[in-house]
Amino acid sequence: MSAINTLATVSRDACVAADRADSLAAFRQRFILPEGVIYLDGNSLGPRPVGALERVQEVVANEWGEGLIRSWNTAGWFELPGRLGDKLARLIGGQGGEAVVTDTTSLNLFKALASAIRIQQVDHPDKRVIVTERDNFPTDIYIAEGLADFLNSVVEATGRRYEIRLVDEQLPLEEALDGEVAVVALSHVNYRTGAMWDMREVTAAAHGRGALTVWDLAHSAGAVPVDLNGADADYAVGCTYKYLNGGPGSPAFIWVNARHQDRFWQPLAGWWSHARPFEMAERYAPASTINRFLCGTQPVTALALVETGLDIMLDADPAAVRAKSLALTDLFVALVEQRCGVHGLELITPREHAVRGSHVSFRHPEGYAVMSALIARGVIGDYREPEVLRFGVTPLFLGYADVWDAVEILRDILDSGAWDAPEFKARNAVT
Ligand SMILES: *Cc1c(COP(=O)(O)O)cnc(C)c1O
Repeated sequence: MSAINTLATVSRDACVAADRADSLAAFRQRFILPEGVIYLDGNSLGPRPVGALERVQEVVANEWGEGLIRSWNTAGWFELPGRLGDKLARLIGGQGGEAVVTDTTSLNLFKALASAIRIQQVDHPDKRVIVTERDNFPTDIYIAEGLADFLNSVVEATGRRYEIRLVDEQLPLEEALDGEVAVVALSHVNYRTGAMWDMREVTAAAHGRGALTVWDLAHSAGAVPVDLNGADADYAVGCTYKYLNGGPGSPAFIWVNARHQDRFWQPLAGWWSHARPFEMAERYAPASTINRFLCGTQPVTALALVETGLDIMLDADPAAVRAKSLALTDLFVALVEQRCGVHGLELITPREHAVRGSHVSFRHPEGYAVMSALIARGVIGDYREPEVLRFGVTPLFLGYADVWDAVEILRDILDSGAWDAPEFKARNAVT
């Protein structure tokens, strides 16, 4: 957006003009958002797609209500995880047959990590370290710790324990990546800061040391370009309720490089991962396809909703989405610095385009109260410990004038001290 790049002279009129010239502007009509809200939390829970209610209505009233159990066959329920996985794969540089939509990101991470470890137990049995990041989303660390604890309870006798190694400023990835590392499990885009790893570079470095990679794409899928096959990644997981607008708690995805799919069972090998589930066979025989990564019966209504979100995303040009995301985040940062500069907001998101995702985070000592005051004024972002105001930038339904208006409300709240009120300091269960 050239009009917006001359930041010194940016005005609301320039933002309105940029919105008029925006090739993605029409996508706004494909979402239903409440009046009076500027929604900067599509990275945490995407808004409702047009057609979502009708789709649920169809599933509940017709497919379930009329079709009853026949709908597993007649309405395509049984194939949903794979059919949606094929659609989703197009957004992350995958092929058909490499992904399924199923379970939660946490569960899929367990399956991916355990499968990667299982491969390493055969290929490189001495590698016992799972590298992840201290600043990773907590569930990613907890799942790795839980897996290591379980494995250690089994291998106690051998004395060669699995361990988690956390990379941080003191221990950069290059140093952590020694010959003991079995798996490198990272979030591609950091949930708090928005910092983004170079997937290709990290994967090559991991492979160079004989390690496998598991990428968490929770803040990447639908937000930034991802090319899993181009990077030669091994496993990936991610959410559909964030940038993919699949609905609250919608099923997650797991992608597995074709070369690994047929090597071992994943440990949650329920009947849906069987080669022929309805043979009801006594002995387990894993599916040779990506269905091996399913576990049990799927949540059909929630899966159906995922498709309404995916179909919108698949209509958008990924290059245009990335360009607008960068333009909006640049604008957001510049306006906050120009208009709220005296209030001590500290940008914790990298400025450099190549190393950031699609959200912007600022630290402020009263971050929680400031965010609560913003939400009360209809500017919905979220708060993350410690002291972080997080603003998700979703190019399909946000425009340049939205960013301008959001920053003006932020400026007003900071200038007036309106955040400094007891009602903005009481913590909710979900922030
Ligand atoms: C949002 C998020 C999750 C959420 O996992 P769930 O199992 O869906 O609760 C996991 N990892 C990262 C990096 C996230 O951002």
